[in-house]
Amino acid sequence: MTSNASQPDWVPPEGGEGFATRIVAGGPASAARGRVRSAARELGAPELAKRILAGDRVALARGITLVESRSAAHRLAAEELLALVNDRAGGSLRLGITGVPGAGKSTFIEALGSQLCEDGWHVAVLSVDPSSPVTGGSILGDKTRMERLSRHPHAFIRPSPSGCELGGVARRTRETIALCEAAGFDTVLVETVGVGQSEVLVRDMVDCFLVLLIAGAGDELQGMKKGIIELADLLVVNKADGDNRARAEAARLDFSRALHYLAGQEGAWHPPVLTCSAQTGEGVAGVWETVEKFIDQARARGDFEVRRGTQQLTWLQAQIEEGLKELMLSDPAVRAEQAEIVRLVVAGTLPPAAGARRLLAKIAKK
Ligand code: GDP
Repeated sequence: MTSNASQPDWVPPEGGEGFATRIVAGGPASAARGRVRSAARELGAPELAKRILAGDRVALARGITLVESRSAAHRLAAEELLALVNDRAGGSLRLGITGVPGAGKSTFIEALGSQLCEDGWHVAVLSVDPSSPVTGGSILGDKTRMERLSRHPHAFIRPSPSGCELGGVARRTRETIALCEAAGFDTVLVETVGVGQSEVLVRDMVDCFLVLLIAGAGDELQGMKKGIIELADLLVVNKADGDNRARAEAARLDFSRALHYLAGQEGAWHPPVLTCSAQTGEGVAGVWETVEKFIDQARARGDFEVRRGTQQLTWLQAQIEEGLKELMLSDPAVRAEQAEIVRLVVAGTLPPAAGARRLLAKIAKK
C-alpha cells in the first residue's frame, strides 16, 4: 500500500504536503468492560464522586468508563455518580470542533489545547466518533493523536467509546462532559468527524461550534459542508501556510460570501470565517479570541443560558426515549408482539400506523 492509499478522495492531485492525511481503521473497544467491573467493585459511587471532585484523574477515567458501560447495574451507579457531582457540573466553556478527516482537527486541538494549558486553563478533549454501522471501524481511532497535549499536566484526553450507536454516544459524551467539569476542567473541547450526523449531536451539547475547513477540497465535500456550515458559530480555514496560504485565503473569501446569504437576524452573531495554520500555530490564538468574543456576546444577550437550557431539555428527552425503548424491549411478550407486527407490516398485510397502534396498546396494558 502506498502512503496515498489512505488519502481521502477529495485530496486534489496537486494538493501537496498540506493535504497529507490518513484514515485509520478502528475497532470496537470491548476491552473497557473488564476495567468497569473492577472500578465498580473497588469504589462505590460516593467515593468515586469524592475523588473526582478532588480532581483525581484516575477516578475521572473510572467514572467515564462507568458512564460508558451498557450494563444495567453500572447504569444505576453512573446515575448516582452523576447526581452526586451535579452541582459542580456546567462550569466549563464547551467548544465543539468538526471537520472532514484530514482537515487538521487533531493538529488544531493539539495547538489550541497546548496554548490554553500554557495560559493556565484545564483542558479536556473528548471525541464523538460513532463507529460505522457497516464496518464497525472508527475514523478518529488513532492512538497517536495529540501526543504533546496528552503529556501536559493540565490536559485530559479521552478517546471516543466506539462500537455504539449515535444516541448512546451522545448520552455518554454529555455525561463525560459533566464528569470532566466536576473534576475541575474549565474548557472542554469536543471533537467530531464531519461526515455524518454526529456534528448535529455535538452542536447540541456545546456553547460554541467551530467548523474546520480546508481549501480546494472538491465539490463533493462542498456539498457535504453546506448543512454543517449552517450549524457553525465560527468557521476556520486551516492549513494557511506555505504554498497553500493563498488558496486558504481565497477559500476564506468564498465561505464568507456563501455565509452572507445565510445571514441571520439583525443584531445576531454572524459566523466569521478565519484562517489559521494548526501546524505553525499562526492564527490559532485569534481563533480562541473569537470563541471568547462569541461567548461574551452570547452571555450578554442571554443566549448562552437559553442554549444550555435547551440542551438540558434535549438531553432529558433523549434519556426518556432511551428509557422507554429499553423498557419496551425488556418485556418478552412485547418483543414477541413486535416481531409479529414487523412480519405483518413487511408482508403488507398490516398498515404501519395500525401496527404501531397495536404495539402501543400492548405496551399500555403492561
Ligand atoms: P484530522 O483527521 O482532521 O484530525 O487531521 P490531522 O490533524 O490528523 O491532520 C491531517 C494531516 O494534515 C496531517 O498530516 C497533518 O500534519 C496535516 N496538517 C494539519 N494541520 C495542518 C496545517 O495547518 N498545515 C499543514 N501544512 N498541514 C497540516
